[in-house]
Amino acid sequence: MFRLSVSHCLRCIAWTAGLAGFLAACQTVPPAAAPAAPPAAELRVFDSGLIDKAVDPCENFYRFSCNGWFTRNPLPADQTAYGRDTELNEINRVHLKQILEEAAVPSATRSSNEQKIGDEYASCMDTAAVNKLGLAPLKPELDRIAALKTGAELPALLAHLHAIGVSAFFFMGSNQDFADSNSVISFYGADGLGLPERDYYTRTDAKSVEQRQQYVAHVRKIFALAGEAEEQAAKDADTVLAIETRLAKASLTITEQRDPQNLNHPTDVAGLSKELTHFALTDYVAAAHAPATGKANDMEPKFFAEFNGLVADTPMDQIRTYLRWHLLHAYAGTSLPESFDQENWNFYFHILNGAEKQQERWKRCTKRVDEELGEALGQAYVAKYFPPAEKQRALEMALAVEQAMDKDIDGLDWMSAETKVKAKDKLHTVMNKIGYPDKWRDYAKLDIVRGDALGNEMRAHEFEVARDLAKIGKPVDKGEWQMTPPTVNAYYDPQMNNVNFPAGIMQPPFFGDKDDDAANYGDMGAVVGHELTHGFDDEGRQFDKDGNLKDWWTKDDEAKFTERADCTVKQYDAIEAVPGVHLNGKLTLGENLADLGGLWLAWEAWLEKAQAVHLDMSAKTDGYTPEQRFWIAYAQGWCTQTRPERLRTQALSNPHSPEEFRTNTVLTNLPEFAKSFSCKKTAAMVAPKPCRVW
Ligand SMILES: [Zn+2]
Repeated sequence: MFRLSVSHCLRCIAWTAGLAGFLAACQTVPPAAAPAAPPAAELRVFDSGLIDKAVDPCENFYRFSCNGWFTRNPLPADQTAYGRDTELNEINRVHLKQILEEAAVPSATRSSNEQKIGDEYASCMDTAAVNKLGLAPLKPELDRIAALKTGAELPALLAHLHAIGVSAFFFMGSNQDFADSNSVISFYGADGLGLPERDYYTRTDAKSVEQRQQYVAHVRKIFALAGEAEEQAAKDADTVLAIETRLAKASLTITEQRDPQNLNHPTDVAGLSKELTHFALTDYVAAAHAPATGKANDMEPKFFAEFNGLVADTPMDQIRTYLRWHLLHAYAGTSLPESFDQENWNFYFHILNGAEKQQERWKRCTKRVDEELGEALGQAYVAKYFPPAEKQRALEMALAVEQAMDKDIDGLDWMSAETKVKAKDKLHTVMNKIGYPDKWRDYAKLDIVRGDALGNEMRAHEFEVARDLAKIGKPVDKGEWQMTPPTVNAYYDPQMNNVNFPAGIMQPPFFGDKDDDAANYGDMGAVVGHELTHGFDDEGRQFDKDGNLKDWWTKDDEAKFTERADCTVKQYDAIEAVPGVHLNGKLTLGENLADLGGLWLAWEAWLEKAQAVHLDMSAKTDGYTPEQRFWIAYAQGWCTQTRPERLRTQALSNPHSPEEFRTNTVLTNLPEFAKSFSCKKTAAMVAPKPCRVW
């Protein structure tokens, strides 16, 4: 499902679970598995025990700060990457498991939410029942697809498949109007690919060609598991690749998608219907129970033109094949027999991302309940693990970082007074959301039946799609969250102009009450600054204080911003993440600007606080000055081990740079860092020409 703003989260992990949608892609998937995670209370934001003194901090600060952590934390076989966020995620997951296991015990006194999360967890865990049922629960859906005879029947069928979470051809969902953020309208966008993103279908290098062949083999195996003869399965897999390639070629690249102007084409159902001459959009809208009138946004007109042509000239048996694949693909996880689950893992986790072992089922079932019933599970989670005092401490930090940005804007030598007034206006309008929603989502209409894993998954999709579409034409709910409370992540929403910090991340090793301000600002402060800076990165700056896509910059200031941003583009373009694959400076620009600006704001906010309490800047703790500990805490927040396969996928398709560069490259641009460690101008950790915007 489309969520524009979630592309601005702190940690977006590359596609790993197939087309689970933007939201799932942005959360820290795949889930963590620490071999022996210490209790959260033992983790520190600054930990001198992790430092490798044999490494010169001016040569490789990431290695200097993290080598000890790497030694202590070998990459688990079931992980494609393992970092400090996964370390915390693992602790959170154990807490969630306890909640779920308690809720799974049948009892007359269970609350409605407890029944739902408990029974869904139990259903997911019951592998024997899932195996025994086989494909039977999916049979009615397979029959529906088999019954598709004409193009005239396609719209209603597609609306149904979209409702049950099948990502075929395109998506339709609600979103705030780019031009009027107070108005929720329908958005139509490109979808329907089984590979991570469109360029996987077009690249011609040997590795990409090989991965396409492996993808076709995967599709073939899934068809075979579903009962097709080998020859037919092979033919059908080729059909899937051909249709998806056609869709991919007509889709925007992920870099083009980062510019909201490219995604803004106002229309309405009548207008879009005129373009879709071979697809009765009104039938689709009626079957989806979406409004037939009112404004809509055709995010990718070129894509929809191709879709229209495809429906016209593709034999119906090929369309049925494509739909059958996406149905099987959507459910080939914990809802289908282990043979499907294993094959799905093999392609998306092992081949594309390098995992050596499937994750234990309880971890995936916990993740599943978090995805389906996140605010029911989250409510129980925060009641137990997120004391109100934490919320207050985080809020104080957010306000301090915002104040630092206020000062920073005053001091910018490249921005005119006119644009500064607007920038400050936007800054002062930012809303801070911390921990969890003020009003919890009501799951009363979602039926969870014990023993019906697949049915539950289907109903959870239907519930979510109906909830999403019901927002069209209604007032915007600014209190809504796009991440669940236990999530170890954060995001900025440009159309809401708010920053969101789930309870899950506000714990050690990111934010600890046993650590001092130097450490907490270096880590969590930089997270806060990162999200805030997203409001002013190359994408976020195009939205005004009210979340409208509206230019508030003078031409001259815009040119100066772009010139500074281009410095960052070039800096990251030059980085070779894995042999033969460079980072994409334009794709990662927003995140890189947020990293750099965010760390700078955290530094300024912390200095202000330190001065207010007359902190002795020469007093060492564990051998390091407060300034040094600020930078080390920042670096230690990013310690991550990543498999080369995953690193490659990340470099090709993820707007976030790998953690090593989120640490070292950012720091080379800050003379204040070099000063704290007395680095020479020629040191690797000092950029000859530093880049700076904010
Ligand atoms: Zn971000």
